[in-house]
Amino acid sequence: MYDTIIIGAGPAGITAALYAARSNLKVALIERGIPGGQMNNTSDIENYPGYTNISGPELAEKMFEPLENLGVEHLFGAVEKIEQQGTIKKVYTEDDVFESKTLIIATGAFHRHLGVPGEEELNSRGVSYCAVCDGAFFRDEDLLVVGGGDSAVEEAVFLTRFAKTVTIIHRRNELRAQKLLQDRAFANEKIHFIWDSVVQEIKGDNRVQSVVVENVKTGEVSEHEFGGVFIYVGLDPVSEFVKDLGITNESGWIVTDHHMKTAISGIYAIGDVREKDLRQVTTAVGDGAIAGQEVYKYITENC
Ligand code: FAD
Ligand code: NAP
Repeated sequence: MYDTIIIGAGPAGITAALYAARSNLKVALIERGIPGGQMNNTSDIENYPGYTNISGPELAEKMFEPLENLGVEHLFGAVEKIEQQGTIKKVYTEDDVFESKTLIIATGAFHRHLGVPGEEELNSRGVSYCAVCDGAFFRDEDLLVVGGGDSAVEEAVFLTRFAKTVTIIHRRNELRAQKLLQDRAFANEKIHFIWDSVVQEIKGDNRVQSVVVENVKTGEVSEHEFGGVFIYVGLDPVSEFVKDLGITNESGWIVTDHHMKTAISGIYAIGDVREKDLRQVTTAVGDGAIAGQEVYKYITENC
């Protein structure tokens, strides 16, 4: 029986584990992949206090390292189901069942797909969702980046380290990304833009060769040659496994109060998976600290 089980070892889950363990609680941190979450797919993090620039994987390693000495049990597995039995919470992975007095859900968010013809067929054959993982395979290529948010613009700038040119296609004529990132992209000679346009189809025999584009204002359709397509059109919550618990909103984001409490007593949600305005490493870490303290209070008062 654990005092708390934290599901997901991104920055939110890691911080919750740190705070809970420092309150001397028995803590398990269950992760299905590499600790660090989305930070592992991030080239440069420039807005985490204390670092002017650090690579995502390096920050992930630095955050995770201290947990071992604090006695946090790191369990590998994908959580498939949660059940409440009285006040006990049961957590099911494919192979095991764990019991805990409290639960912290920190499963984050996952890149959305475009849903156009060719996208799935050419996935990993020129279609990518991770510039930091795949960028180096596209030396001297002409690349297309889809989206107008922080991810698209930041990763487009990163891709210019390898690519001949990087074209950002956005469905409006104005980017959503932070001003500083926009300015960096506009100033980069390798970056071009296709405005007011969407991808209709990604084409290629075994590898991406071209992309069919529609201008949403004029209806004009054109085909452009690209060696790779990087898709950054936003995020969906990773909350499928809790959809029957009644703690999510209509889009699947988990609803909490400012103590990170969900509608179920003893279950907390933190980081990107939570309904919130700003999804960042800093806000994930802040959520994690609050939940780590809250489980300590809950256990002191209820168990
Ligand atoms: P995540 O980082 O998503 O971690 C969730 C973890 O839960 C993952 O490791 C996942 O494997 C695990 N998990 C999910 N489901 C299960 C399950 N069922 N069982 C077990 N484990 C599970 N933010 C910044 O502040 N600065 C930046 O420069 C920045 N750049 C970014 C660039 C990109 C390309 C992207 C995609 C995001 C960027 N962000 C940036 C946002 C930032 O990475 C996220 O806000 C942050 O990682 C959210 O942390 P989290 O812990 O809530 O979730
Ligand atoms: P986002 O902010 O939701 O932006 C998604 C972009 O994709 C938007 O420009 C959107 O267009 C476009 N889009 C959505 N669906 C589309 C579709 N079907 N076809 C074409 N375009 C589509 O997502 P994100 O950029 O991945 O960022 C996610 C979170 O991580 C944000 O909170 C962000 O701030 C954070 N993040 C931060 C940093 C940083 O701080 N440096 C870096 C990366 C990410 P519209 O603009 O028209 O809606």
